[in-house]
Amino acid sequence: MIDLHLHSKASDGTFSVSEIFEMAQRIGLKAISITDHDTTKSCQEACSIGIPSSLEFITGVEISAGSPLSFPCFGSLHILGYGIEPDNSELTEKLSELQDARKNRNPQIIERLNLMGIDISLSEINDMFQGSQIGRPHIAKAMMKKGVVRSVDEAFERYIGRGGPAYTDKYRIPCDEAIDVIHHAGGVAVLAHPILIKPVHSLPIENLISDLKDMGLDGLEVYYPEQFPNFISFYADIAKQFDLLMTGGTDFHGTIKPDLQMGSGKGNFSVSYTLYEQLIHYGNLKSGTNTFLHF
Ligand code: AMP
Ligand code: ZN
Ligand code: FE
Ligand code: FE
Repeated sequence: MIDLHLHSKASDGTFSVSEIFEMAQRIGLKAISITDHDTTKSCQEACSIGIPSSLEFITGVEISAGSPLSFPCFGSLHILGYGIEPDNSELTEKLSELQDARKNRNPQIIERLNLMGIDISLSEINDMFQGSQIGRPHIAKAMMKKGVVRSVDEAFERYIGRGGPAYTDKYRIPCDEAIDVIHHAGGVAVLAHPILIKPVHSLPIENLISDLKDMGLDGLEVYYPEQFPNFISFYADIAKQFDLLMTGGTDFHGTIKPDLQMGSGKGNFSVSYTLYEQLIHYGNLKSGTNTFLHF
């Protein structure tokens, strides 16, 4: 079994690269990818510390992208990039714009929370999560620690989620640019967790997939805990219809999403190694060389 959607401390997960390696080995996963939000820091680290011999690893990233004008959505589309070169300069420059967007938004969220009488500061959140790219999940976790809310979900629902009183929007890169930059960095572009997409108009999701396919989208994340088991065949059919690769993973975040386990999601979820083999095969064919990054 495999897990191609993991977050580390570099974004909003709570485990380091070596802790993720240990856990993946302990539960017997055959292949993983670390797909942090808008950063390749953990993939750089994984490459430099070395991949354990019992584990296969493919580089990854999860880019916060804007929806196309033809299919407006609330919030971001998440575009996964697999097999990307983590040091690619075009990619790291684009990602740093997104990192700045998150960094610039945090004080605005904190200010709104303070105005609501919630005593919380960015410096205490930075102290709690040293080395992480601070975003809303960290703010939520800090609110939980202070007893303002009982869970991360409650913080999103009551305060910082879209439509909440402390919600602040942030810059996203257009989805066609996200796909292009992944390709330019040698990777393949996969639309993450389609079930979480919130269209503004009640149009069929196939319209969006068709537009993204025209922009060069390579794959669809068919296996995802919230899509399991009822929506797997629905998204698998869409992948087949648009000739897209299928991928899957849990979106493991450690204790920030405590109900999701690496590899098994909420318990009975799993992703087959075959999907990993198909991803590698596709990436190698597409790059025409063996520069497609997996170990
Ligand atoms: P940010 O990129 O800083 O806006 O944070 C977005 C991340 O917060 C997402 O990728 C999820 O991991 C998490 N998230 C978004 N909405 C929710 C929610 N309603 N409940 C819990 N976590 C959420
Ligand atoms: Zn996240
Ligand atoms: Fe996501
Ligand atoms: Fe994710």
